[in-house]
Amino acid sequence: MKKIIVILIISVLVISCVSMFCYATYNDSYTFYYDDREITIEGNSLDQYKAQCIADYIAYGIIPPEELGLGEEMNTSFLCILFGHSIDTYSAVEVIHNVYTTSPKCVKNFYSIEYCTRESCDYFQKTLTHSYRISECHG
Ligand SMILES: [Zn+2]
Ligand SMILES: [Zn+2]
Repeated sequence: MKKIIVILIISVLVISCVSMFCYATYNDSYTFYYDDREITIEGNSLDQYKAQCIADYIAYGIIPPEELGLGEEMNTSFLCILFGHSIDTYSAVEVIHNVYTTSPKCVKNFYSIEYCTRESCDYFQKTLTHSYRISECHG
């Protein structure tokens, strides 16, 4: 009887761990609005502040603050030299309105954002993966 209870407790623990893990890997998404564009950042365990910095970087080309590990100075940590970067990938979708005077007037850009999760490393990269003109919003 005791054995069954132990098995029950263990399975409850395992299930709660699994659901926590599922929660932790939830895909977060934030959208930011600028004068002529809107930028959506998506990724796992992404907080709003980090998303805002990445969006500003795409919108204005401003280098994100150092505390995010996304600084202008590309400091590569010793760990990364030995074992390679520990890369987190986010995706970003940018819609720029009224780029063209004729339809389709707006442009949709897709970026892949790579960033190293190691604290001492500043590796950060923005890559335009594809881009096309859209007519949904402004014709
Ligand atoms: Zn790194
Ligand atoms: Zn538009």
